[in-house]
Amino acid sequence: MSLNLYGNEDTIAAISTAKGEGGIGIIRLSGPKAIEILERIFISASSEASEEGSEKKLLKPRYFYYGHVADPEDGRQIDEAMAVFFKAPHSYTAEDSAEIQVHGSIVSLRNTLELCLREGARLAEKGEFTKRAFLNGRLDLSQAEAVAELVSAKAQKSFDMALSQLNGSVSEKIDALLQKLLDIEVELSVNIDYPDEDIEELSYARLIAELSDIKAEISRLLKASDSARILREGLSVSIIGRPNVGKSSLLNELLGEDRAIVTEIAGTTRDTIEEYAELRGIPLRLIDTAGIRKTKDVVENIGVERSLKAAENAELVILMRDAAMAEAAVNEEDASSFESLETEGKKTILVYNKMDKVKDKGSFVENTASDTLYGKPVFMSLKDGSGLEELKDRIEAAVCGGELRMEERGLSSLRHIELLREALSHISHAVSAAGEREGFDLIEIDVRECFDTLGKITGRTAEAELIDEIFSRFCLGK
Ligand code: GDP
Repeated sequence: MSLNLYGNEDTIAAISTAKGEGGIGIIRLSGPKAIEILERIFISASSEASEEGSEKKLLKPRYFYYGHVADPEDGRQIDEAMAVFFKAPHSYTAEDSAEIQVHGSIVSLRNTLELCLREGARLAEKGEFTKRAFLNGRLDLSQAEAVAELVSAKAQKSFDMALSQLNGSVSEKIDALLQKLLDIEVELSVNIDYPDEDIEELSYARLIAELSDIKAEISRLLKASDSARILREGLSVSIIGRPNVGKSSLLNELLGEDRAIVTEIAGTTRDTIEEYAELRGIPLRLIDTAGIRKTKDVVENIGVERSLKAAENAELVILMRDAAMAEAAVNEEDASSFESLETEGKKTILVYNKMDKVKDKGSFVENTASDTLYGKPVFMSLKDGSGLEELKDRIEAAVCGGELRMEERGLSSLRHIELLREALSHISHAVSAAGEREGFDLIEIDVRECFDTLGKITGRTAEAELIDEIFSRFCLGK
C-alpha cells in the first residue's frame, strides 16, 4: 500500500537526466504502481541466476541492483541497467518510487520510458516529482523552489544559498514569523469575542510592541534579501571608459579567456556584449561596452548609446581610466562624458589601469586618491596583474560588504521578496492602526493579511493555481 496523502492515483515517469549524450541516463518513477512497473521491466542479474526452478527472487527496497531492462511482452533486451526503489514514505516524493539507470543514450532512455508508459505510468509534468514531495508534506514550498534553484545554480554561492534554503533556512524564518502573527491574531480575536471575560487584557502598548517586532524582522529580512537576490541572479556589472583604456582586457581577465577581441584600434568593441563569469563564487553578468567617447561615426554612436544604457541598467559600474593618459593630463574629456551617466545611487568603482606606464607612481596615486566623486580608486595594470586582486575585493564588497554580512541571509527569490514587501505593508498598517487606537477587529484584518501573505512563501496559505504556476517552471524529471 502506498502513501497517498492527496489522493493521487497516477504513477508518473520521466527521464531525469539532461538531454544529450552522457555516461548514464536516469528514468524516474513515482506513484502506486512504480515498484510493480519496475519489477516487470527490470530483470536483476542475481534473480536470473537464482531462478532455476525456484520462485523469482523479489527485489528489496534501497538496494541497488545490476541487470537489464527488457520488454516483458517479448523478452527483447532494451539495455543493461542498474535499478533501485524506495517504499513510501521514505522517498523523494514520499510515494513508492523507483530509479532506473541505463546508458545515457536517448535511444535507450526513450525505449525504457516508453515501456514504463506502456506498463501503466503516465508522463510526468514539469516539476511533478517535487510537487508531489510538497503536496505530501515532505518539503514546504520554499524548499521545493530551492530544488529548482539548485538545479539551475551557476556559481558556488548561488548553489550554497539554494542548499541552505532546501535545508529549511527560509522556512525557519517564515514559520517563526507566522507563529508570532498567529499568537497575536488569537489574542486579538479573544479580546474581540469575549471582551468582558476574565482573560488577560491586551493593551495597546503591548500590541504595538509585538507588531513592531514583527515589522522590524520583516524589514531586516528584506534588507538582507538584496544581496541574496544578487547571489541568485548575478550582479550586473558594466565596464565603461574611453576606447583603449583596457575594458576588453579586463573583461577577458574576469572571464578567464579571450572572449572579447582586444585590439589597439580605438572603438572596435562596438556592440554591448553580455557575458557570464564567476568571481569568488559570486555570479557576475558582465556588460562590456563600446567606449563612451562622443563621435561623429554613426555606427559607433549606436554603441555609445547602448553602452550608456547598459551602464544605467547595471548594478555596479566599473569606470576605467588610462592612468598614463591621466598622468599626462590628456583625458579631461572623461569628466564631461561621465556626467551624462546616471550613476547616482549606483555603486561605482573608479579604476586607473595601465599603471605600468605611469612614470611617477607615488605622486600619481597621491594626486588622484583624492577623487572623492567615486571614492578611493583602484590602481591597476592588466599588463602585470597588479591591483587586480584589490579590484576583485571591491567587486565582492559591492555584493557582500558594507552592513550586510553573508551569514545574514535573506530571501533570494523575487517571488519571496515581493511577498515580503507586501507583508511589510500590511504589518506597517497594523502598527499605525494600533498607534491610533483603532478597534481590534480592524487591526486583526491587517494581521491576518500579513499572515496570509507570508504563508504563501512556504505554501501554508498558497492556493492551487499559485502552486501549479510555480511547479510549471521546473524542468522535466525533477
Ligand atoms: P578597450 O578599448 O577599452 O576595450 O581596451 P582594450 O582592452 O582593447 O585595450 C587596449 C590596448 O591596451 C590593448 O593593446 C591592451 O593590450 C592594452 N592594455 C590593456 N591593459 C593594459 C595595461 O595595464 N598596461 C598596458 N601597458 N597596456 C594595457
